Amino acid sequence: MLGVRSAQRGLLEADHLYLDYVGRGSFYGFLASLRGQLFQDEEFAELYCPDNGRDSVPPSLVATALLLQAYDKVSDAEAKQRADFDIRWKVALGIEVEDRPFAKSTLQLFRAQLILHDRVRAIFQRSLQFARQTGYLKGRRMKAAVDTTFILGRGAVKDTYNLLADGIVQVVRALSALDGTQPADWARKWALDLYFGSSVKGEAEINWDNGKERRALLQKIVADAGRVLELARQAQGGFPADSPQRQGIGEAAELLGQLLLQDVEPQEDGPALKDGVSRDRIPSVHDPEMRHGRKSSSKRFDGHKAAVVVDTDSQLITAVDILPGNASDNTGVLELVEQSEENTGIEVEETIGDAAYGDGGTRQAFADAGRTLIAKVPGRPNKAYFPKEDFHIDLEAGTCTCPAGNVTSTLRTTGTRSNRLGQVYPSQSFQFDPAVCGLCPLRDQCIASRKGKGRTVALHPQEALLQQARAFQQSEAFAEYRQRRQAAEHRLARLVQLGVRQSRYFGRVKTRFQLLMAATVANLTLVATKMEMMSPTPGSSPNKSADRPGQPAAGSPIVTAGFILAATSWVTLILCLRLGPAHWLSSTSSRHSRAFQPGF
Ligand code: SF4
Repeated sequence: MLGVRSAQRGLLEADHLYLDYVGRGSFYGFLASLRGQLFQDEEFAELYCPDNGRDSVPPSLVATALLLQAYDKVSDAEAKQRADFDIRWKVALGIEVEDRPFAKSTLQLFRAQLILHDRVRAIFQRSLQFARQTGYLKGRRMKAAVDTTFILGRGAVKDTYNLLADGIVQVVRALSALDGTQPADWARKWALDLYFGSSVKGEAEINWDNGKERRALLQKIVADAGRVLELARQAQGGFPADSPQRQGIGEAAELLGQLLLQDVEPQEDGPALKDGVSRDRIPSVHDPEMRHGRKSSSKRFDGHKAAVVVDTDSQLITAVDILPGNASDNTGVLELVEQSEENTGIEVEETIGDAAYGDGGTRQAFADAGRTLIAKVPGRPNKAYFPKEDFHIDLEAGTCTCPAGNVTSTLRTTGTRSNRLGQVYPSQSFQFDPAVCGLCPLRDQCIASRKGKGRTVALHPQEALLQQARAFQQSEAFAEYRQRRQAAEHRLARLVQLGVRQSRYFGRVKTRFQLLMAATVANLTLVATKMEMMSPTPGSSPNKSADRPGQPAAGSPIVTAGFILAATSWVTLILCLRLGPAHWLSSTSSRHSRAFQPGF
């Protein structure tokens, strides 16, 4: 059942006693000042059984703990320790010094419930509502900047041999669970124990310089994978279509099948490794949603992409999403902008992006939705020859004029092409007369092909939109947008500071949770700093003695113990004043002695 915090504050609660010591200007002090305002327990009622069970830990407290966890970038185990022993967390949570507010599993269960009931976004939206309430977020229209950054996936990335071995292990686990056998025992029975060592590749006693031996190992793994898939198929037949057992085996078998298809191809003399990398290759069995992505043309990463929308005036993050690591930056950008409007209730009048958003397909999608997109048109790599921009295309007259002043109206359809959004369109090009080009003094700067060929200039299906954008990016007015776009880069840097560069969880859904929590903290700290509710240096304390060079940092075990000693003195003083020293000595000595037991 839903547990609710009392509206009445206790005399011994840490925020009552130590708020100034921890620092009103710190994030912890700021959260303490928002107690009962940022989250209300009743908002989370749908996550709990209405009429059965014990009272839960108040959800407003656990939600605040999730924010602290995102701010301090700590694990669940460390979050539990800090809630138990760190005075800064106790102040932020508004609990007594001796309280141990929740178990690690409570934190995990609450997170799972938020994800299952799609309530994580509600927590993020709360940060935007707070910005509204304080008056920091104003206006009815905004200019929004969009951008992405990469997130390294949580799953272990393996080469094909070990990846297939991991896939086999997953199916073996699902099959062995049917009769309660240990997976290693089940594997031994079916002569698959090779895959339960530390590394198939590392343990294989072959000469890795010998191609035939490598191929023989691969063929053995593929044969075993085929055998396991057949066992899975037979086992599935014994269960109804919608049973969890059948589903579990099906998922593991499907993954193994995908791994085989992406990395192995059949040849006359048996299976062999595929040349190149499949576009949608799964690099990790432990997180099958990870993908190979590119930071640049030469640098790669394995994981996901974080996409954000940022209000360029307030610098608030107004929407976030997680994309596959191999998705183009503009994937789902229109939906993300719409989500930004839902989250803020403010209309996005202009969307600003870099050249990754400047392709014709994205421009057309925005134009169709009645929206304005400002993004640079992507450049072309063939810098040695006249680029398309040096030709003048007159769409009304249907002509193209080259740098030498020659005009052509010959437009040819040469097939079909697809854009980055997967839309297929006819490929059309203006064709210059080969005879004219052959006599042209500029030919060497214009055409790479041999004599007898004329220059061709592609006509884009969204040529008018691209021409408009090219003209705008050369105007003075474009400078303002170039500057505004940096807001997204700055906020992505803040998210990276809050730990989103490395995913803490497996899968995109949980990584989205991490991103939303980091964005919530980024927004809250921004608003609090700008509205002078928090010190400009995140985490700094007005109490300089706590941050003095050479002294232990606040939150270290030494300082925490110091706080407890100080706490004891303060509590003694208060209770002595209220109840008298004799009462304090008799009633609290045993209670406080627990605080100094080993492990505190
Ligand atoms: S090579 Fe042909 S298209 Fe190029 S500048 Fe000369 S005439 Fe124009």
